[in-house]
Amino acid sequence: MSLDKKTILNYICCPICKSDVSQTGTRLTCKTCGKIFTVSNGYVRMMSDSTNDIKLSIRKWDELYKKQFDDQTFYQDFKVYKERYFDSVYSQIKLEKKLSKNSIYLEIGCGPFFIGQLIANECKMIVGVDFCPHALMIAKKMLDEKSIKNYLLIQADILALPVKSNTVDLIYGGGVIEHFNDTKKCLSELYRVTKQGGVSINTVPCLNIGSLTYRQVWGNIPNFPVLRQFAEFIHIHILRGKHMVFGYELSFLPSHLTKLHTEAKFRKTTVKNFEIEPEFNFIPKTMRAPFVYLAKKSPLFWPMIKVSAFK
Ligand SMILES: [Zn+2]
Repeated sequence: MSLDKKTILNYICCPICKSDVSQTGTRLTCKTCGKIFTVSNGYVRMMSDSTNDIKLSIRKWDELYKKQFDDQTFYQDFKVYKERYFDSVYSQIKLEKKLSKNSIYLEIGCGPFFIGQLIANECKMIVGVDFCPHALMIAKKMLDEKSIKNYLLIQADILALPVKSNTVDLIYGGGVIEHFNDTKKCLSELYRVTKQGGVSINTVPCLNIGSLTYRQVWGNIPNFPVLRQFAEFIHIHILRGKHMVFGYELSFLPSHLTKLHTEAKFRKTTVKNFEIEPEFNFIPKTMRAPFVYLAKKSPLFWPMIKVSAFK
């Protein structure tokens, strides 16, 4: 594993003030604000002080990963991901940016880091960031079993990334950035860590008739004036998050995503449909067929879009 001092000092900074850190044994100390972090279980622990909603999300997700870790179901999940989804996802990433032996790949919300495991040999370094300890423990176990050395795993909050500025060639987030109330802050962090000439690619739910209907099953918030306030009022205040099974989740219009990325200073942004096989497993079986039909026939029902932002 690559948690040697040189790797850490090359890529890691303080999540709060972004200064360099110094390392003594398993202890990392910010050279400016003095905040102390640790290295344990094969990953760097650099959570800044989380708000209560983030703490709740961590607990909820980590329970899920702990179960996968204990049951070892991640081996089967990896097999399914590799056989059914990886080629499609990776080809859509490569369309925007090709990796080379000098590339740094960063995945935000990496979970067990399946993509990282499959592309590590194409990059100089793969960096996985997630806030769940058990997701990172699964990732570490699998990376080590594959004898992959060029990785760095960090437990962190994406709104306060402990990654040095201008270091990353390609950022990928598969359904991550829609879970933050403050999208601008999130995109500013992604911009900061991206190298000149690098790209940040994220898939997010598309705001269309689909998100206004079936996505309401889990409390999606359309990010559109008035609609957003209305949906937040209904889902958070009236229903008290009852349907928000994935926590807070926004859907976006392509034009709004472009605007947000431009405000975060990216020089060029493109938005395309993210090609997936719509399965709609989350909808009760009896209601599924019409949505699959509509998603395939009409862009108004297509569920996911890919936003690529170039620095
Ligand atoms: Zn600091």
